[in-house]
Amino acid sequence: MDNNECNVAAQHSRIPYLSLNSLHVRWNLSAKGIDVSSIVCPSCNNGVETKDHLFFECEVARDLWHKIPVWLDCGMLNLSSWDSFMAWLEGIRLRPLSKDRIIAVTVTCLWTLWRFRNGVSLRFFL
Ligand SMILES: [Zn+2]
Repeated sequence: MDNNECNVAAQHSRIPYLSLNSLHVRWNLSAKGIDVSSIVCPSCNNGVETKDHLFFECEVARDLWHKIPVWLDCGMLNLSSWDSFMAWLEGIRLRPLSKDRIIAVTVTCLWTLWRFRNGVSLRFFL
């Protein structure tokens, strides 16, 4: 490792913190007693909408995450949950410029998945 490499984990504080119980996915809303019409993922209709499903297990998310290695010219990501995502971030070592780039891409992917989910969900109310 040269002096320009650094641990991404030191920078992951830039990744938005998502508490398991605070994100308003359908499973969390239902668990809080809020009446939701369905706890099924609105994006794929093929799983309970949990944080892990929304960001990593859903076919929409998997398709997006599989494109990252191509965009960043890096190894395949094997992300299946928020915990695996954080472990991956903590385990990789990159040069500062690469680190900034991968954080920007991953945050953009998370935000894009959340916005896509909200767009699909809102269609049910229009
Ligand atoms: Zn889904």
